Amino acid sequence: MKLTVLGSGSTGNAVLICTEKTKVLVDCGLSAKETLRRMAQVGVDCADLNAIIITHEHSDHACGLRVFLKSVDCQVYISEATENSYYTTRKNVKDVASEAVKRRDALKNRIEKIESSVDFRIGDIDFEPFSVPHDAADNFGFVAVNDGVRVATLTDLGCLTTLVKEKLQGCDAIVIESNHSRDMLRACPLYSWDLKQRIMARTGHLSNEDLSEWLTHEFDGAARHIVLAHLSQRANEPHLARLMAQTALQMRPSLFKAETKITLSHHKEPTDWIGF
Ligand SMILES: [Zn+2]
Ligand SMILES: [Zn+2]
Repeated sequence: MKLTVLGSGSTGNAVLICTEKTKVLVDCGLSAKETLRRMAQVGVDCADLNAIIITHEHSDHACGLRVFLKSVDCQVYISEATENSYYTTRKNVKDVASEAVKRRDALKNRIEKIESSVDFRIGDIDFEPFSVPHDAADNFGFVAVNDGVRVATLTDLGCLTTLVKEKLQGCDAIVIESNHSRDMLRACPLYSWDLKQRIMARTGHLSNEDLSEWLTHEFDGAARHIVLAHLSQRANEPHLARLMAQTALQMRPSLFKAETKITLSHHKEPTDWIGF
């Protein structure tokens, strides 16, 4: 199994998880054109795509879906609550009613209904979804399993619950949000007080500090790769996010030193493939 984060951030998220037989796109938050361009860049033919999974309806995870579906003929794995919210999500859409109709048409006969806490399988990859705290209808993270390799992906979550921490144990790679620096967010002049409260809430986005706390004190050290995702372009700095994660790993008790590589994802370009 291998993965690449095609793009991640508040402007759009998409991850590719592939085996020899199965190719799955997780979220479609970049424009259709950009998703196709980046898939070509990492050497995946869109005709070979087996499925698209939508984790939640926020536009940075689903806004490219409708147009992208014209270029591929695979099914969309989505929960009922997320599907319903997808039809009415307004952000960046001028005419909500006509967009809703277009979205319904695009998804007609293309849906595989999933539940955010019931395992499902696509080709030779098993998916173990689990609910995460976020201000969307039914957001989930998941562990993808193939041939004993476990890869976790969770991009939007306000805090690390007991369930999330449990699911992250024994994973070989983890793609996880490192959204903002708390100080940078507080000082950011471009965000309203309300928006800052939304981001910092337990159903908002995970901070560098939250992630560091978990890396030092609770991460089991199993993952060889941790990919930092969904970095805020206004309230974070890539080198700061990386430094904080690396420092947090070094602060683990010496008995539990981890051989873990930190990779940054970008909003503008795909990461290198991470393979197992
Ligand atoms: Zn979200
Ligand atoms: Zn997001």
